[in-house]
Amino acid sequence: MPDTLLIVDNLSATYKLPRGRQLTAVANVSFTVTRGETLGLVGESGCGKSTVARSIMQLLKPAGGSVIFEGRDLASLDAAALRQTLTRLHMIFQDPISSLNPRRKVRDIVAEPMAIAGVGTPEERERRVRIAVEAVSLDPDRVLDRRPHEFSGGQCQRIAIARALIMEPHLVVCDEPVSALDGSVRAQILNLLEDMKARYGLTLLFISHDLAVVKNVSDRVAVMYLGRLCELAPSARLYEAPRHPYTAALIAAIPVMDPGRRHDPLTLLVGELPSPINPPSGCRFRTRCPRAAPRCSEFEPEWREVEPGHFVACHFPLGSST
Ligand code: ADP
Ligand code: MG
Repeated sequence: MPDTLLIVDNLSATYKLPRGRQLTAVANVSFTVTRGETLGLVGESGCGKSTVARSIMQLLKPAGGSVIFEGRDLASLDAAALRQTLTRLHMIFQDPISSLNPRRKVRDIVAEPMAIAGVGTPEERERRVRIAVEAVSLDPDRVLDRRPHEFSGGQCQRIAIARALIMEPHLVVCDEPVSALDGSVRAQILNLLEDMKARYGLTLLFISHDLAVVKNVSDRVAVMYLGRLCELAPSARLYEAPRHPYTAALIAAIPVMDPGRRHDPLTLLVGELPSPINPPSGCRFRTRCPRAAPRCSEFEPEWREVEPGHFVACHFPLGSST
């Protein structure tokens, strides 16, 4: 598949906890990202989204599985080759202010990926920094000599985006890029990401706990629950006809401007996310699932394609006769 930019194959990631315990934050997650698309990754806080992002970026060594970017298994690269590859793969973090080094000027922050990759003369770097800063609608003459604390959250996220784009990466992993922003600033940054995507021909992995945000920006959406994927489908199909009860519950929880709409009790999400240290047996969602049956506690549901491009892991998917 020449158009596949990223393959995440059977990825698992664990954290070591005190007293020899360990937490499996991500278990057997597989998906691909196609060149030019935006893949949304959604799920409640704590389900493992950032762990997936950190594993892709090789900030965390996976416990199992592989991350293949542009045909190369990132774990197999030596430090120099990885550094070179990471110029084409960039990450934007949730908290724009703390993701920028407070002691450095905007000029140096935005130029950092070029410095790390060792490209460009000082003049060339300055020229590219100015272009990137202008592209995110900031005025280079007014911002380059200032430091992050002098800017608002939205402006800091613009600076982070400028830095992400300076090397013209092929894939940008956006981990909750607007979750720390509110209202109109959030909309502005989402629009900016769309503009940048068109302008630079980017491919995005767009992570958010907010299905409403993901819906608007994604071509396909993957839904995660307690470290595993439970559904993946083209955006429109996922929202029109979710097959996993968890997805249906997330969709039902999106606020709508319709006072007459009633919540279907079968789609209301009850209870709390169980601890990933001791996940439920069988299907991990069963303790909160309105459709759970004995089989769900005994067997883990298989990941299967229920219609072309629509995958679900559920013993009793919605909209089917079984
Ligand atoms: P999300 O981004 O979806 O909110 P995370 O990937 O941050 O989820 O976390 C997944 C799980 O891993 C959570 O249970 C979280 O508490 C745990 N976790 C995350 N980072 C660490 C860490 N450094 N050490 C131990 N546990 C962690
Ligand atoms: Mg996170």
